[in-house]
Amino acid sequence: MSEKLFESLDLGFGIYHTKMPGHTPGPGRVFSSLIIGSEKALLIDTGYGIGDYRAYVESLTDKPLIVVNTHGHIDHASGNCQFEEVWMNPKDYALADWHTSLETRRNSKDIGDYVDLLVDGPYKRLPLEEGVTFDLGDRTVTAYNCAGHTHGSMSFLDSKSHYLFTGDNITRRVLLLGVISSTTLEEFRQTLLHTKTLSFDKIVAAHVPYLMEPSWVDKVLDIVENFDPQRGFTPPRNFGLKVPNVTPTEYTVGDGFDDPEYCGFVYDGAHLEEFLEGFTLKK
Ligand SMILES: [Zn+2]
Repeated sequence: MSEKLFESLDLGFGIYHTKMPGHTPGPGRVFSSLIIGSEKALLIDTGYGIGDYRAYVESLTDKPLIVVNTHGHIDHASGNCQFEEVWMNPKDYALADWHTSLETRRNSKDIGDYVDLLVDGPYKRLPLEEGVTFDLGDRTVTAYNCAGHTHGSMSFLDSKSHYLFTGDNITRRVLLLGVISSTTLEEFRQTLLHTKTLSFDKIVAAHVPYLMEPSWVDKVLDIVENFDPQRGFTPPRNFGLKVPNVTPTEYTVGDGFDDPEYCGFVYDGAHLEEFLEGFTLKK
């Protein structure tokens, strides 16, 4: 049964991008990524914790698994309990406790009809930080700070494919929803500048079913640096997320997820001053 819940895109180089069950507001779907080396395999994210994902992963590889999280959100870290140990940035531990709890998931529209398939249980967290490198045998994967979407967001660079796995933090539309769960715009800008110093050939984002070009970082950076609060609008398109005391406000170019050029971010329009702390507006 678990086989039918999961299906994967083959991204080449022994990399599978698995569409996870559950429905994310906005882009609609979320992927976890599996990188298979000659000695070990690295799993990036574990979805909503619906069904036996571990059995599915073990149908793709018989190598010992290392599991990491791009960040602590409900659709990325809720299946962690199916594995003994998971690497996560400690800055996202509290966020993950809230987001991945059975109560949060049972009450989430994202889970839909899958409520009876939710898995839960304890696992050990290992502290992920910039520079931690995972040796998979014929390839290594290195973690980098990628704060913005969450304070503990991380990206992962694979030495074989030269793909950079960015989770939700460098993607079509980045959610920067209030400085409690996300960073300021300036911190996100610093992340984009930091990411530009890395050498990679493609971006693999968690809600995008295809490879993105490295130039996407420049595109996001350009939009960030030319941020004009006058052009922010509310409510955002295709946005079902409700966050207490946050007024989600969209700042994008392009016409929505069907437009390949669609790019930008969603921020808390009611707390603009906090969001812009340390940032210099051009206009
Ligand atoms: Zn997220």
